[in-house]
Amino acid sequence: MTIDEARAFVKHVESLFMPWNVEALVAGFTEDCVVRFGDLPEFTGRKELEKFFRGRSARQKGYQLRKQLHALMGHTIANSWQGEWQDSQTGARMSGHGVEIWVMREGKIAVWEAAFNFKEGQEKRHGNRVMQIREMKKLIGASLLLLAACAVLGDRTASVERMYVINCGENHTKDLSAWTPGTHVGEPAVFSNHCYLIRHANEWMLWDSGNPDRVAALPNGLTNPRGTITAYMRKPLVESLKEIGVSPGDIHRFAMSHSHGDHSGNANLFSTATLYMQTPEYDAVFGPEPQKYNFIAANFEKLRDAKIVKLNGDHDVFGDGAVLIKSTPGHTPGHQSLFVRLPKTGPVLLSGDMTHLVENWQLKRSPAFNFDVPQSVRSMERMEAFMKQTGAQLLINHDPAQAASIPKAPASVE
Ligand SMILES: [Zn+2]
Repeated sequence: MTIDEARAFVKHVESLFMPWNVEALVAGFTEDCVVRFGDLPEFTGRKELEKFFRGRSARQKGYQLRKQLHALMGHTIANSWQGEWQDSQTGARMSGHGVEIWVMREGKIAVWEAAFNFKEGQEKRHGNRVMQIREMKKLIGASLLLLAACAVLGDRTASVERMYVINCGENHTKDLSAWTPGTHVGEPAVFSNHCYLIRHANEWMLWDSGNPDRVAALPNGLTNPRGTITAYMRKPLVESLKEIGVSPGDIHRFAMSHSHGDHSGNANLFSTATLYMQTPEYDAVFGPEPQKYNFIAANFEKLRDAKIVKLNGDHDVFGDGAVLIKSTPGHTPGHQSLFVRLPKTGPVLLSGDMTHLVENWQLKRSPAFNFDVPQSVRSMERMEAFMKQTGAQLLINHDPAQAASIPKAPASVE
């Protein structure tokens, strides 16, 4: 986009408010647009956007708007607006101004960030002119700052060097329907299970730690107390790491999707790494009743004093966008998934147990035993939108058919 095209686009948008042309406005956004408007909770998609515009257009009568382009950087446009209207509910004359950032994709707005001020009455054009100019200067400053931040965000497309997908056991069940409510009743199934070792610059990061290595010594596997799952470990994780030339003490950063036994089986081996955990998961694991969440306290006994970074949402692990922890609660209170940018494959999202099977993902179906089923579904929906935005592919840890198509350690994925 050129600066002239950006200016023309801003003017075009301005014209769509006088009068409100909701259909044309919505058409200027991508199908999966993300909207962060003032204090409103973030929302996604044209349907929600249309609702939002319809609500506002019903209320703001006689809208007079001036929009101005401030800067264009890459695909990001910074602009400000000043407007006046009559509130149809209160009858009051209103005025306001604000700053907007638009991240463009194929000529449409993919991300809309807006910060604004409005008040009753008109902004005085003469008496308060100095004030107004000062405000506008502040706004321009703010928009440039925002734009700089966006540029940094936009540039956050660094990649890791490579990733090893390590076989970290197998879990057998006699009845798949616990994971697929209503179908596959009485059908046996084998879930794959993986650990993921990531090389980034000079560091190693491990995602999930699999079934316990000690299970490798049990030819008949280890059956859980309820008798619903039997866990096997064909090769201990320590041995798989050794084949790559890594020992547990070499791992700098360690995170688990969640704290169930098939992901935390070898967690104690990595007590020298920095551990990343969502606060609700931390509280459940190290609180008084880990068993209430089906967590095994012994799996974490060496981690209590480890360096733990408690998270309350998403986190950029290396600060360059190459690896992002995405908060996906539901399966457990602080479940998380991992976004990894690979240099050749492109971005992938490691599911953890956000979903267990391609079939469940397609139907947005959640096992009934999840900690919070509606929250699980919301996490899946959020990640689907995120994947559309980033073009990421989903690697489903426990889906054996999908897993069979991915090269395993000691080979790596680039
Ligand atoms: Zn699992």
